Formats: sequence, structure tokens, C-alpha cells
Amino acid sequence: MSTPFIPVNEPRLTGNEKAYLRECIESGWISSEGPFVSKFEEAMARKTGRRHGIAVCNGSAALEVAIACLDLGPGDEVILPTFTIISCAAAIVRAGATPVLIDSDLSTWNLRVDEIESRITSRTRAILVVHLYGLPVEMNPVLALARKYGLKIIEDAAEALGQTESGKPCGSFGEISTLSFYPNKLITAGEGGMVLTDDDRLAERARSLRNLCFGKTQRFMHEELGWNFRLSNLNAAVGLAQSERWEESIAKKRQIGRRYTELLAGLPQVQLPLERTATAENLYWVYGLVLTESAGLTAEEAMQKLAAKGVGTRPFFWPMHQQPAFTKRGLFHGESHPNAELLARRGFYLPSGLALTEEQLLITADAVRSLWA
Ligand SMILES: *Cc1c(COP(=O)(O)O)cnc(C)c1O
Repeated sequence: MSTPFIPVNEPRLTGNEKAYLRECIESGWISSEGPFVSKFEEAMARKTGRRHGIAVCNGSAALEVAIACLDLGPGDEVILPTFTIISCAAAIVRAGATPVLIDSDLSTWNLRVDEIESRITSRTRAILVVHLYGLPVEMNPVLALARKYGLKIIEDAAEALGQTESGKPCGSFGEISTLSFYPNKLITAGEGGMVLTDDDRLAERARSLRNLCFGKTQRFMHEELGWNFRLSNLNAAVGLAQSERWEESIAKKRQIGRRYTELLAGLPQVQLPLERTATAENLYWVYGLVLTESAGLTAEEAMQKLAAKGVGTRPFFWPMHQQPAFTKRGLFHGESHPNAELLARRGFYLPSGLALTEEQLLITADAVRSLWA
């Protein structure tokens, strides 16, 4: 008998999700006007140590709002990693600003902080920091550069919710942080995102931008162009229920990561995620592998073989400087960022969702080992 396919992510919806959704239906509050939205905003602001949380419909929208809040536009340069989700660079490009890319560190898979200063010019206005796969970017040197050159910091903490860096919560750094509540994130709302800030003025701006910038006195008179990026009460109900299992979810992620490391340690064909940096313990948002030279396989080949054994995987990100959507616009011409290129070709991640069972984890680790048996 064949075992059922192990999905790369399965969320856990075993708390108050159903009860809160029932409350939405029974009360008739299903739109963004419902009471779960502000409760969810308050819960996430509290968890990240921020004054304000502004819920939006997804994490990509949160990045768009963050860029707009800081008035980044034509002539402005924003530094970010090339190895990240397209939402980061897309928000910058759509605002008319210029993305300036940084290569990756081969051990943490995060952006190379030591490369940032050399890319700062008189036009640089902001650094978009992205914590990848559960290990945070070391923030003190980035914050020092921001102070030295008068730059703003946007922190994309979508993959580092529940993580801390130098003892401070991810989601609390810089002018604005953003979150996503897609089903593979630590907390899911089905779809959803959040803008976090300590600045009252930025918070008000973000609230206005997510809601079409309706007029304050004359509702249908708009001083600025916004979006309808509102989050529904239904999504917020799920998100709030999820946030109640905060500690448990963080512990489960770490347990999955540590277990994979125990089972896969010593394989010369794979580089495992770092267990810790000087300033953080890995949260293992997902459990990534990078194939070494001796693997004799690309990530794509390994992923196909694992799929044939019933194990779902996802490739690592593809670098921004090699995205047709950007190169067609004349961006990043002739750029090379060799570490990010290597990670894209050799990296993928294993089933890491919060509903993963010990049995599924053992089958997965066995399947990985058997690639070279
Ligand atoms: C998931 C994710 C996003 C985008 O979130 P969506 O809700 O899918 O739009 C942005 N940044 C990072 C780092 C992510 O992992």
C-alpha cells in the first residue's frame, strides 16, 4: 500500500477558528467592519511589541502600503536582497522607485549585511530587510547604517513571526514592519497581512491607504490614491484564533526543525539550516536544504525524486536580477549575485507545516537519505 502524499504545508486549524467563524456568520459581521479585525490587529501589535497593527488583505499588499507610507518613488533607491519573494521588489518598482540588490550569505541565506554600505548612494532612501526561512538578519549593523546615512528601514517579517533578533521581536525593527498570514506562515488567516509601526502618523497613513483614502469630512473626496486592501472579519477571526496558539506554534516549528537536523545530520550531500546565529536560534519557518557539490543533483531533480516518493517540496526563491518581469523593463542589466544564484539552483524546502506529524517527518527524512542510498 502506498502512503498518502505528504504536502509541503498543512496548517493547523484546531483552536477557536470554527467558533469565531461561526460568530461572524451568526452576527452578520463578515466585512472588514467586523470586530475581529481590530482584535487581530491588537493581538499582533502586542506580540511584536509595536504600537500599531494595520490589517490588510495579504503580505504583498502590506509591502505596497509600507513603500507608499514612506513616500518612496521616482528617483529613490531602496536596497533589498535579490534572494526574496517578488512582492518586495514589485512594491518598489510599482511605486516608481529603484530596487538595488544585495547578494546572499551562503550560511544564513539572508542578505549580506557587509555588502549594504557599498551600494548606498546619494539617492538611497531605505533598506528593505527580509528575514528568510526562520533566521533573522542581524539588525544592529543595519540599524547603524540607517542612522549613519539617514535611511528608513522596512522589515519584512513574514517568515520570522515569532522569532527574535538580539532579544527583540522580529516585526519590531525600523519604521515599518510587514507580515503575511498566508497558510504557510506561523499564523494564518487564510489570506491576510499586516503593517506594523510605532509611529502614529505612519499608522494613520497606512489605515487611509488600505481603505481607498476616503475623505475625512467628505467621504467620497480623496486627497490621495489608495487601494482596497482591507481584511475581512472572516479572515481576521481565523487569524485571531491562530494567534492564541502562539507559543505552541513557535515550539512546534523549532521541534520540526531540530528533528530534521537530527535525522539528516552528517549527509555530505546537503547543507542543513544553521541552528543559530550569534543573535538568534533558528525558528525553522520552513526547513530548507541546499545541495552540495557532492550531491550530483540540482534542486529540481531532487524535488522530482522526492515527489515520486510521495514527499512534497518547494524550491527556494529565484533571484530578482534574473526575473523576466524586471529584466524586460531594463532592470538589473548584467548583474550577477553568485550566492543567490547558487541558492536558487541548489535549494528547496521540506514539508514543514504546523500539522506535520512525526510519521510524516520520518518518511520525509528517509526519502531524503535514500536519494543517495
Ligand atoms: C509570504 C511572504 C510575503 C507575501 O505574502 P502574501 O500574503 O503571500 O502576499 C512577503 N514576504 C515574504 C518574505 C513572504 O514569505
